[in-house]
Amino acid sequence: MDAQLTCHTCGHTTTPLVRQNGPHLEAVCPECKAHLRFLPQPLTELKIYWGKYTGRRIGEVQDAGWLSWCYDNIRTLNSRYRQALKEQIERLRYQTA
Ligand SMILES: [Zn+2]
Repeated sequence: MDAQLTCHTCGHTTTPLVRQNGPHLEAVCPECKAHLRFLPQPLTELKIYWGKYTGRRIGEVQDAGWLSWCYDNIRTLNSRYRQALKEQIERLRYQTA
């Protein structure tokens, strides 16, 4: 994450600060703290915001049954989360095979 961004609020062009904002990574201006943009993050870095694993990264959860249940039953998850769950489920499946 070393791309430089220009802040539209204060005009500085710098390497942005990156912070977690809910389920998103957000780049902010180090000078004035203005929002610059949201950043893509690796799918397995996505943080779970529901249920017993709240706050854990999807890549940390070893509970394939729970992941599968979420994948099948939680209809409000966006496509990135669904893809992340699927990837982690498949990873666990191959580990135990
Ligand atoms: Zn700024």
